[in-house]
Amino acid sequence: MTTKLNHWCVICGTGYHSCDSCEAIGIYSWKKHTDTLNHYQIYFIINDYTYGILNKKQAREKLNQCDMTGWEQFLPNVRVKISEILS
Ligand SMILES: [Zn+2]
Repeated sequence: MTTKLNHWCVICGTGYHSCDSCEAIGIYSWKKHTDTLNHYQIYFIINDYTYGILNKKQAREKLNQCDMTGWEQFLPNVRVKISEILS
């Protein structure tokens, strides 16, 4: 069982290990995109906001329910979206 880093979180950029064999046989996992479930929730909210499914107010309310610790260190494109939503 290897623990090499083969994925990088789309929110914070942290490298992590996720099982490619599981993905290959179609087991869907949030680990395909992010290192933590919390970051996956943030990713989901930003996507919904970007595609107009959530308006700014709705997105802000949902982000406020997430652990936003260290968001100032998230990837630049993510930071731009978060500051837009929180403004
Ligand atoms: Zn992350």
